Amino acid sequence: MAEVIDGKSVAEDVVRTVKALTSELVANGKAKPGLAVVIVGEDPASQVYVASKSRTAKECGFHSLQHTLPAETSEEALLKIIGDLNADPAINGILVQLPLPAHIDAGKIIQTIAPEKDVDGFHFINVGKLGTGELETAFVPCTPAGSMLLIERVRGKDLSGLNAVVVGRSNIVGKPMANLLLAANCTVTIAHSRTKDLPALARTADILVAAVGRPEMIKGDWVKPGATVIDVGINRIPAPEKGEGKSRLVGDVAYAEAARQAGAITPVPGGVGPMTIAMLMANTLASAYLAAGLKRPSF
Ligand code: NAP
Repeated sequence: MAEVIDGKSVAEDVVRTVKALTSELVANGKAKPGLAVVIVGEDPASQVYVASKSRTAKECGFHSLQHTLPAETSEEALLKIIGDLNADPAINGILVQLPLPAHIDAGKIIQTIAPEKDVDGFHFINVGKLGTGELETAFVPCTPAGSMLLIERVRGKDLSGLNAVVVGRSNIVGKPMANLLLAANCTVTIAHSRTKDLPALARTADILVAAVGRPEMIKGDWVKPGATVIDVGINRIPAPEKGEGKSRLVGDVAYAEAARQAGAITPVPGGVGPMTIAMLMANTLASAYLAAGLKRPSF
């Protein structure tokens, strides 16, 4: 059976380190890192995420600010808030929780965030830096950054010679994940909905990353024996066995069968999920270091 990669424990490690480095920064007379989280509307899932981000920021010792805005907030008003946060020296990271209401152009909002405060890593400048290998100053999207840390825990930092297959090509997960693996010297293939014979391609992967959004699509016999399997998917499916109307979370990988083939595998929940918030904290700390003229810490 595969080693189970404990994302919860790695995420706790990251948060612990961020907390210690924040104390050190403050002890050296620098300002504490500041994170502003902006949420528009009442989407319950978004409210849970945002509350968790703000709570973890406080736990890290950050200056934590939250703007909770009504769904009818205008694009203009939101742009003004972003502009003010861009200009605020106490803020190092700005996160706008997605999705935004339909009347607001999310792309425009994201591109208005100052690149050096774009701790979600979605601004074109940060996308370009990752694509060109400028990793010293790039902000990398939190979910692929966290996935990469989990891969490194199993395989080390230099992945020379390994074949990686990333299933999914979104701007938030698939593409940045592929760029990170390339930067670590993997031979990378990106698969998507038009890929032919995905099972055969997946079987070539020493590192297989699933970021699809389809419950348990990747079967055990798609996994090369000994492969490292990173399951980014979070899918809620009905679980009548738990009672009427109940549901449970599963990944994009059929976990039980894949675990019989893989060398190491992330569970869902408890794998990649907890890493996302931890890496948001790491990115905000990195932004504060860079703003203070210091070399960013590595994780
Ligand atoms: P997305 O934007 O919907 O992208 C899904 C990708 O999967 C697309 O590139 C799509 O291909 C590809 N795909 C769809 N069906 C496929 C098939 N049958 N065969 C091969 N590829 C297929 O999703 P996302 O935002 O990247 O998220 C992916 C999953 O990760 C979701 O379950 C999401 O909930 C989860 N997620 C988790 C976290 C976390 O914190 N752990 C964060 C973000 C996302 P095309 O491009 O050809 O359409």
